[in-house]
Amino acid sequence: MRGLLVLSTVFVAVFGLKLDIWKEPTHPTLPVDIHVPFESLQSVKAFLEANEIEHYIMINDLQALIDEERHEMQSTRFIEPRNTDNFDYAQYHTLDEINAFMDMLVAENPNLVTKLRIGSSYEQRPLYVLKFSSGPNRPGFWIDTGIHSREWVTQAAGIWFAKKIVIDYGRNQAFTAILNKMDILLEIVTNPDGYHYTHTTNRMWRKTRKPNPGSSCVGVDPNRNWDAGFGGPGASSNPCMETYRGPSAHSESEVKSIVDYVKSHGNIKGFISIHSYSQMLMYPYGYTKTPVPNQPELHDLARRAIANLASLYGTKYTYGSIITTIYQASGGTIDWTYDQGIKYSYTFELRDTGRYGFLLPANQIIPTAQETWLGLMTIMQHTKDNLY
Ligand SMILES: [Zn+2]
Repeated sequence: MRGLLVLSTVFVAVFGLKLDIWKEPTHPTLPVDIHVPFESLQSVKAFLEANEIEHYIMINDLQALIDEERHEMQSTRFIEPRNTDNFDYAQYHTLDEINAFMDMLVAENPNLVTKLRIGSSYEQRPLYVLKFSSGPNRPGFWIDTGIHSREWVTQAAGIWFAKKIVIDYGRNQAFTAILNKMDILLEIVTNPDGYHYTHTTNRMWRKTRKPNPGSSCVGVDPNRNWDAGFGGPGASSNPCMETYRGPSAHSESEVKSIVDYVKSHGNIKGFISIHSYSQMLMYPYGYTKTPVPNQPELHDLARRAIANLASLYGTKYTYGSIITTIYQASGGTIDWTYDQGIKYSYTFELRDTGRYGFLLPANQIIPTAQETWLGLMTIMQHTKDNLY
């Protein structure tokens, strides 16, 4: 297992070199993606060569790609959209623009869409959930995007889903049947402080923005902060790491607000938490190898969902439980939701597989959202047909 040995050595080296691991080690045969700051470049190269580790460069100059993305965003923003038909779904948007979009969507569809405020972020930004409902007292199907703020294609896909729902209801037969049985609850900007920060200061910000007492490092990984195997392997106790779990389970208000909402709702039947990148569809668990009781059902449903997703553009996904598909991760969102009794809990990792990583070009937003919607349709339909 030389591969693993080398990888663990890399981990020891991570600290002083300020490496940002984009895709963590999973298996000796699979690659690891690492964002290396300029000042560490020579040391990292020397290390890789000394250890004969095969490597290549995906993005030569990350700043150039960030500048390009920013330029494209700014150059397309001459006219403020007056309604959601004029909204530019093929671009990345700021938090203010997304909030304006949600208000327009609610105003245009007062009988179908409401905006709930489930709490506030650490920096006191409202945490909004769009509720799509065609009748009272329905079970809920939850979708969240953007819990990791730098995964911009996810929030952009969330916006597209919201519009897709109001277009398809009453027009698309399969979708209408779904929304006649279940409400959809969609949190587009699940980590608004982080998202704002990715626009103003650091495009590569992943965590929340809460300071950590006794440390100069800010933020908690909101996908390691849930009360499911909290503090176990696959999360860090170091506030300077990207996978810092936080001082206690549900310490982050962005997480706690969802916890409180899910508990008070009491009838959520499906829960999808959307990330990027890697092209994967996963079900619980991440914190333990013990299979969930309905693993065969979840596995088969995942297989069908990724086949439907691939039918549009041929995008290939892998699938399985989190621990077998990526790595052991404790304190993750869908492990907690599953343990709350939400049988259809999944997490997506959207496009791509590393060519652009978190900086997916804006011209891939709509294709990504369209294909993901097909995967979601498969899961929503199955949930609707198997209400429990
Ligand atoms: Zn993520």
